Amino acid sequence: MSSVIRTHTLQAAYECRKGLKKIYAQGVPCTYIVAREKLFWDHCMGPLDPKERCFFEVIELDKPCHLYIDLDVDLVKYPMIDVHDVKDMVCGHIESVLYDKFDKEDVSKIVAESSNDKKGSLHILYKIKGMVFANNAHVGAFMRRIKKFKVDPIPQDKDIWQLFVDMCVYSRNRLFRMLGSTKLGENRLKKVTDMHFNFNNWQLCQVQPLCARNAECITVDEPDGSPAKYKGVAKVFMPNSYQPHMKKLLVEFGNSIAPVRGLQHMPSIRMWNINLHQKKCPYKNGVHGKNTNYILVYPNGTYSIRCWSQKLKCCRDGGKINRKPLPDNIRQVMSTYDNFIISPSINN
Ligand SMILES: [Zn+2]
Repeated sequence: MSSVIRTHTLQAAYECRKGLKKIYAQGVPCTYIVAREKLFWDHCMGPLDPKERCFFEVIELDKPCHLYIDLDVDLVKYPMIDVHDVKDMVCGHIESVLYDKFDKEDVSKIVAESSNDKKGSLHILYKIKGMVFANNAHVGAFMRRIKKFKVDPIPQDKDIWQLFVDMCVYSRNRLFRMLGSTKLGENRLKKVTDMHFNFNNWQLCQVQPLCARNAECITVDEPDGSPAKYKGVAKVFMPNSYQPHMKKLLVEFGNSIAPVRGLQHMPSIRMWNINLHQKKCPYKNGVHGKNTNYILVYPNGTYSIRCWSQKLKCCRDGGKINRKPLPDNIRQVMSTYDNFIISPSINN
């Protein structure tokens, strides 16, 4: 029997979540709600008067999510700035990169607005067919690359970006206001022009898909070539599924190839990234200036060596096909590990 569970801490929410449920937050300071999407819609969102709906999506740590952008213009301070002009500049730079890497028809954009006379406020969501960013840190790294390589060389764009693009939203367990919700006490509903406020559209506008197992993962490195990092909030919170024993084995394995500089886990797609101190690239047949190699560990107990460099086709494609089995001891621990409840699990 499914139900809506309310908790006071995110940790408690993680601990009681089983199966295909999402974690939402309500109010400021917030309480957390664990529920299946439809149940949340029917029991929490639906019954409330629109101006009292103050609900957020928890963009969970280390779970795949879509690309999203938060634009805020304080119209009291900057009455001459139109937030839609800011959007056109920002989206222009982002789309120049997206359309270069993906088919244009596979990229969709949803622009939600919750502006009033004091504040210009837009949330932009990009979805790429069959693809999803590995987690919010990778979305942040993508945005920081756009800023550094596309925007910063153009002084007027750089100024506008720095003032009105909120780069702090790419942090751990970020709360993001959902369609049909307002800031507390402001009666400023988040809406999409020409889009009815119903369950399907509300679901469509969420940043984090409930299950992304069939999607291909987009990973992005930071502008300096280092692995994607969460920014903005110092507090580290690891969900239950975090396994120190698995981590130790994978670091040992990584060290047998090259010195390990970090490890990332993406629980919902059951994959690991082992970042290496190795610039000598097996695909380029040479040494990179900044970019390093990493080991991608797949849920079926295989791995491949990959390169963070996106410049050369050989680096981008290197390792995509040629997967090798992990040592037996790690495969064994992994299969045990995979029998744990991994959130979200479709078996519960
Ligand atoms: Zn390379």
